[in-house]
Amino acid sequence: MESRKPLIAGTWKMHKTCPEAVETARVLAGMTTDVEGADIMIAPPFPALAPVAEALAGSRIGLGSQNLHWEKQGAYTGEVSADMLVSAGCSYVIIGHSERRHIFGETDESVNKKTRAALAAQLTPVLCVGETESERDAGKTFSILDKQVQKGLNNVNLDAASPLIVAYEPVWAIGTGRTATADQAEEAHAHIRRLLAQQLGRNMADTVRILYGGSVKPENIAELMARDDIDGALVGGASLDADTFSRLIHY
Ligand code: PEP
Repeated sequence: MESRKPLIAGTWKMHKTCPEAVETARVLAGMTTDVEGADIMIAPPFPALAPVAEALAGSRIGLGSQNLHWEKQGAYTGEVSADMLVSAGCSYVIIGHSERRHIFGETDESVNKKTRAALAAQLTPVLCVGETESERDAGKTFSILDKQVQKGLNNVNLDAASPLIVAYEPVWAIGTGRTATADQAEEAHAHIRRLLAQQLGRNMADTVRILYGGSVKPENIAELMARDDIDGALVGGASLDADTFSRLIHY
């Protein structure tokens, strides 16, 4: 099996003003100078990206955005392009987060356009997929993952220079304090890796990091990370406080 370097990623959603974000990033950078075995990423809100990039200079932490628009530029009020994110210091972008899908109506088609735009701009997409509670209860978890992965990666051609990250985030576990069990998460991750192998080929599928997201905390990360197909975590609430997130990163 390919060895994949773990990625521990934090998304701050709509939290933190610019000074608050810079301060958290600065403190977290100081707390993670010893971390060599994992990559780290934080995704602050848009206005804080450039100042946080400055605060992270020389640190081990990469910068990500929580969203992007697929067009390069134009009359798209309120939207932000991949090149703008790169110029603000981003190297990652989160795409298709469940809050974007369920609150803002994002579809698999827009997720696909965003994924292709990110790759074209050399941004690493973190493609989020996951079922709702009623879909899980109805036994539809795998068919939802099939649809989201296949449509999200439609016509996406990857090579070694175009890294892709997938985040499995069961909607019922996000911000609820209910974490998927390690067995539930591993089952979904292994399924996603089989889908990636069908779509991208076995070799490429083995290089893709699949993160788990949904109420990850310092107390439960080690058990999740022990599983073969869990290559990191996407963390919401527990990434807001530098001390808590640092404990989680040092799991
Ligand atoms: C998320 O927003 O992607 C997330 C996983 O949030 P939380 O860790 O708060 O459940």
